[in-house]
Amino acid sequence: MRARLAAALLALTALLCGGAAAAVAEAPLSLAEVAPGVFVHQGRVENWLPTNGGDVANLGFVVGQRCVAVIDSGGTPALGQALRAAIARTTPLPVCYVINTHAHPDHVLGNAAFVSAAADAPRFVGHARLPAALGAREPYLRNALRRDFNQVLAPQDIVYPTLLVERRLSLDLGGRTLHLDAWPTAHTNHDLSVLDTHTRTLFLGDLLFVAHLPVLDGSLRGWLQVLADLRQMDVALVVPGHGAPSARWPAALDPQEQYLRQLLADTRAALRERLSIQQAVARIGSGALPGWWLTELFHRRNVTAAYAELEWEE
Ligand SMILES: [Zn+2]
Repeated sequence: MRARLAAALLALTALLCGGAAAAVAEAPLSLAEVAPGVFVHQGRVENWLPTNGGDVANLGFVVGQRCVAVIDSGGTPALGQALRAAIARTTPLPVCYVINTHAHPDHVLGNAAFVSAAADAPRFVGHARLPAALGAREPYLRNALRRDFNQVLAPQDIVYPTLLVERRLSLDLGGRTLHLDAWPTAHTNHDLSVLDTHTRTLFLGDLLFVAHLPVLDGSLRGWLQVLADLRQMDVALVVPGHGAPSARWPAALDPQEQYLRQLLADTRAALRERLSIQQAVARIGSGALPGWWLTELFHRRNVTAAYAELEWEE
């Protein structure tokens, strides 16, 4: 009797655990409708890693009367599939555009899930410099997925944009227009923002980090200039590349701008004192940064990038 009870308990445990594992693997992507017809999946404020399935960037989509535009597709092809399924649960309309805000892996590797041979297949949209940026990073993207995620990408799984934005482009989703702006070098040299003119919701990609320490992969001075230009925009809600969306505009830009201004001032001071790059990183990179996450991963790297940029300024 006891043996039968134990066996039954074991079977029940296996069922529950198996069921739980399946639920985690197939859990639908969490979504919030942050404004009418504007949906956001908020990624975790973590590094891009297998333990989180690469689910670290904010992903969005906007639903028009005719079709849907995706804004960033996720950090793995599987995440792109989950986003596609989440869109299909939300609306029967087809996806007509997949927009990438820049080439970092957590924003582009889900593109493969949206490729289709159908006549109404989506067009892939990016900054005019996105193809070159993806090309330069493609070996890294493939290596990182194979080494860290144990996934081998087929040649066509890194999807390049075919519709390029030199400065500004408007996309019509049917009764709803998106304004895309291609920015000068800031977070990267190919940042693209997306404004839903209907709700004044602005997707900034990694031009804005909230809670997650900003990561400098472009130009510190350029980024500060772009922030000044962004402040002129009429915005009701801003969706950062990482961290929570915010209706506080333009105040939502303030913490990041303060961090970047401090980085600029500290790095210039180190250069005036003729510190070596190692000395500058040791001094500036050791300071506490209350309010920011992932500082241990990115702050010293930012100091290195800032030093290299500012070293040659007059
Ligand atoms: Zn980025």
